[in-house]
Amino acid sequence: MKLILLGAPGAGKGTVAKILTAIDGSVQISTGDILRGAVQAGTELGKEAKSYMNRGDLVPDSLIMGIMEKRLQEDDCKKGFLLDGFPRTILQAEELKVLLAKLDITLDMAVNIDVPRDVILDRLCTRRTCENSKCQAIYNVKSNPPKQEGICDKCGSAAIQREDETEEAILHRLQTYNDKTAPLIGFYEKEGLVKTVSGTSSDIVVLELKEALGF
Ligand code: ADP
Ligand code: ZN
Repeated sequence: MKLILLGAPGAGKGTVAKILTAIDGSVQISTGDILRGAVQAGTELGKEAKSYMNRGDLVPDSLIMGIMEKRLQEDDCKKGFLLDGFPRTILQAEELKVLLAKLDITLDMAVNIDVPRDVILDRLCTRRTCENSKCQAIYNVKSNPPKQEGICDKCGSAAIQREDETEEAILHRLQTYNDKTAPLIGFYEKEGLVKTVSGTSSDIVVLELKEALGF
């Protein structure tokens, strides 16, 4: 499958993507994971991206397009991909359209995962993320805590609160989403690609999507 996952921070894009990749071997491409990996590795990209990310601002479009242009041409994308956290601005969506046409790739769907704001806020404040950049497993202190407090079940690294998951940065990320990313729903509606799924449970979102995609 070749999908774009739209939805506010905390809507469950990453969780849904991880379940869907297991179905047909598509890869999850999360620009947030790629950027956090670069910050941790201390690369030039990471140094440039870090301050934007910690504030809850978007990193510049040019940085993201450079990453994605290379990423989409890697071999593992041939089986399909789920774009998680990209595109995030109209400019990125327009440039992606040109890039996909150049690579002769057609999207199946742009999924809009719609979750009420109070649920999102609660989730983001209680979310914990494995700090190992190769793992980045996601936990929730209330609904899905690691077996041992603060330790990732999968790799044993620390499961921590992200630097952009302070209350201030969370509110700013939600505002940024409303201002810059929510307009993409209209963009992809014009392309006839939008499927909106509402649900506070990622399992239900996955069920609806499987049906819509014919799996
Ligand atoms: P969430 O969806 O929970 O906000 P992500 O992990 O997708 O988190 O992104 C974390 C941060 O990485 C964003 O707040 C932003 O600074 C940066 N980022 C990720 N993807 C993009 C993108 N496509 N364009 C610009 N910035 C991005
Ligand atoms: Zn881990």
